[in-house]
Amino acid sequence: MRVSHHARRNALKDLIDVPAVTSDGVAIKLSANVGKVADAAMAAAFGAEGIGLYRTEFAFFAHAQFPTEEQQYQVYRTAADHVRPSNVVLRTLDVGSDKLLPYFPLPAEANPSLGRRGTRLLLGHPQILRTQLRAILRLSATHPVSLLFPMIGGVEEFTAARAAVESVKEELRREGQSFDPRIPVGAMIETPSAAVTARWIAREADFLSIGSNDLVQYLLTTDRTSMEMAAYYEPLHPAVIQSLKFVLDAAAAEGKTVSLCGEIAGNPAYTALLLGLGVTSLSVAPGEILEIKRVVCSLSMAAARQVAARALAAGTILEVKACIAGAPEPAPQREEIFQRRAVQRWRGEGGAGP
Ligand code: PEP
Ligand code: MG
Repeated sequence: MRVSHHARRNALKDLIDVPAVTSDGVAIKLSANVGKVADAAMAAAFGAEGIGLYRTEFAFFAHAQFPTEEQQYQVYRTAADHVRPSNVVLRTLDVGSDKLLPYFPLPAEANPSLGRRGTRLLLGHPQILRTQLRAILRLSATHPVSLLFPMIGGVEEFTAARAAVESVKEELRREGQSFDPRIPVGAMIETPSAAVTARWIAREADFLSIGSNDLVQYLLTTDRTSMEMAAYYEPLHPAVIQSLKFVLDAAAAEGKTVSLCGEIAGNPAYTALLLGLGVTSLSVAPGEILEIKRVVCSLSMAAARQVAARALAAGTILEVKACIAGAPEPAPQREEIFQRRAVQRWRGEGGAGP
C-alpha cells in the first residue's frame, strides 16, 4: 500500500512545473503549509507558490525556553529563503488549549479549548508577541512575507492585533531598522464568531485565511483530536459548507483574497466542492501539492460549481456526501492521519530542530 502510494507520488512529479489551472482556464493558487524548515525545502521542491501557512509554533517547540528575536528571525529567514521570491504567510504563535509549550505554564481552565489560545493569549502577553513581531517585521525588509493572526474571535481582537503590529513598526522605525511598512496582515477565520462576522473582519484585514480544522471543531462542537469523537468531526456537515460559502462571499464582497489552509484543502475528494464554492487559493501539506494540482487540472469550473450548488442545497451530511464525486478518504485512514498529526504538532514530537 505504502509502495504504490510512493509510486503514484513519483508519477506526479511531472506536474511540478505545470501551472494549477482548471480545464476551463481558472488559475488556482497552491501554496504550502509548513511547520519546519525542512517542510519549506519540500514545498519548494514540489513547486509550491510560496508558503500559505507557516505554523510558527514549531520554532517554539524546538526550544527549551522562548526563542529570542534573533533565533526566530534566523529560522523564519531560512524557511523564506527556500521559497524566495514567493511569499511566506507567517502565523503568529498559536498555543493554548491543547497546544502547550512546556516552558509557558498557563492557568488551569475547566474548558481550555474555549479559553486563552492564539491571538487572545498573545494579546495578554505583549512581550512574547512583540518579540515575534520584531523578528517577522525585520524579515519583511528583505523577503516577501505576510502576517497572520490565529483564532480571531471578532473585529476587536483583530484590530488590537493590528495595533500591536503598528506599535512594533514604530519601535523599529525609532531604532532605524528596516521593514516593509505595507506588510499584509491577515486574519484566520476558524471560529464561528469570526465566520459570522467575516465581512467586518475582511474590512480591517488585508486577507483572510480559513482554518477549517478549527472551524469544523468549533462549528460542530467536536474535539478535533479525539478518536472517540471522530465520527462527529465531519467537514461535509452542511453547517461547514454553508459557513465556507458565507466567508468566501464576505471576502469577495470586500475585495479581499481568501485562502483555505485546513486539512480539507489537501484532500482531493473535496477539491471540486471547494473550487465550486469559490476557493481560488489552497494551502496544503507539501506532499499533497501535486495530487491537488492533478485534480485541479482535470476539473472544469462548470462541473465544480454544479457540485457546490448541489451541496449548498443539501440539509444532511449524507446528502452532501452524495453530491461529492468519489468518496472522501475512508474514516479509519483519516483518523489515523489526524491522530498522528495532532500528536506531532501539539507535543512538538515531529523530530528535532525547528
Ligand atoms: C486550522 O485550524 O485549520 C489551521 C490551519 O490551524 P491549525 O491546524 O494549526 O490549528
Ligand atoms: Mg487552527
